[in-house]
Amino acid sequence: MALIVQKYGGTSVASVERIKQVAERVAKFKMLGHQVVVVLSAMSGETNRLINLAKEIQTEPDPRELDVLVSTGEQVTIALLAMALKDLGLRARSYTGSQVRIITDSAFTKARILDIDNQRLHDNLDAGCVVVVAGFQGVDEEGNITTLGRGGSDTTGVALAAALHADECQIYTDVDGVYTTDPRIVPNARRLDTITFEEMLEMASLGSKVLQIRSVEFAGKYKVKLRVLSSFEEDSGGTLITFEDNRTMEQPIISGIAFNRDEAKITVLGVPDTPGVAYQILGPVADANIDVDMIIQNTGADHTTDFTFTVNRNEYARAMDLLETLKPKLGAREIIGDKTIAKLSIVGVGMRSHVGIASTMFKTLAKENINIRMISTSEIKISVVIDEKYLELAVRVLHDAFELDKQPVI
Ligand code: ASP
Ligand code: MG
Repeated sequence: MALIVQKYGGTSVASVERIKQVAERVAKFKMLGHQVVVVLSAMSGETNRLINLAKEIQTEPDPRELDVLVSTGEQVTIALLAMALKDLGLRARSYTGSQVRIITDSAFTKARILDIDNQRLHDNLDAGCVVVVAGFQGVDEEGNITTLGRGGSDTTGVALAAALHADECQIYTDVDGVYTTDPRIVPNARRLDTITFEEMLEMASLGSKVLQIRSVEFAGKYKVKLRVLSSFEEDSGGTLITFEDNRTMEQPIISGIAFNRDEAKITVLGVPDTPGVAYQILGPVADANIDVDMIIQNTGADHTTDFTFTVNRNEYARAMDLLETLKPKLGAREIIGDKTIAKLSIVGVGMRSHVGIASTMFKTLAKENINIRMISTSEIKISVVIDEKYLELAVRVLHDAFELDKQPVI
């Protein structure tokens, strides 16, 4: 007998029919003798619908009230699933985040989980109940309802699995696992049977939208065994997120290609090459709450240098305006920017022990005449910024060059 946490995303509970299908799957696990905790998202589209209602009243909705509002989406699905389970003859109980006592900080709309009271859950499980918990929400120490950020039900699932010392956390979604890259761009993209936690962390932060990044961080911190599966297909083992030591197979050098079209690039030309310049540029950017991703500074020539960085595309206009106002103080010659870029990254723990990965990547892009505008690397990834119009081509040729469609050799 195992204790399993199953999280179902919005498309898996999008209708009463689908909720009944979820109940059938839960029942199957229950029949096998497992204890099951289910975490649900709201029906797909519901959270957006609620946010849009709020925006009809306030363009920047009050964060506390917004959380009261959007947390209702999950309250609907948990109640319906508990009914469907009871209808199948199972014992079941639904709970909101605050009923469980998923305690968070008070950062409305992006709260962090501080503590989970697992007593009530254990009592219910011991009594043979399926426990159905609303994802994405918690309660702060003053009793205010909070939410965990978009996609936050993944984090609820993993956090509950950690708090309950579950044997496995299964994330059911509309894809059957983590792929080498987006199959809509590369039709022969392959589902990975396993991916290491570190690779998943990179893939999630680089724009692969399968799991909320915070859920992956949580899984890493508490060593939660995490598996991504499809709720629409039976019998695919999905993708297991492993901790490197557990891997028995020879690892592929590159596990996947992630990309992101949400960034824009800004270059400050001809700033004095003196101490403090990076801070003079990025300090005000940070103060304006604009996230910076890649940063590159040239070696100074003639006592000036160029400074390039990327920001989220929807913060580009604000960042450009800010830098224009800073220009005289910085002594910069010119500020230029480009919104039509894309970032592409190859990810793999095998890079640690193999040389020549970067050169293969650059050679492959050069053959297609794709200009690399920025490069950054970490131990297990190489990212390049290129013109957005070449993104799909670049993903395809790199997928071929690294033979990601082929199963790694054992
Ligand atoms: N319903 C929330 C959202 O749409 C949380 C989730 O589905 O994970 O972001
Ligand atoms: Mg999701």
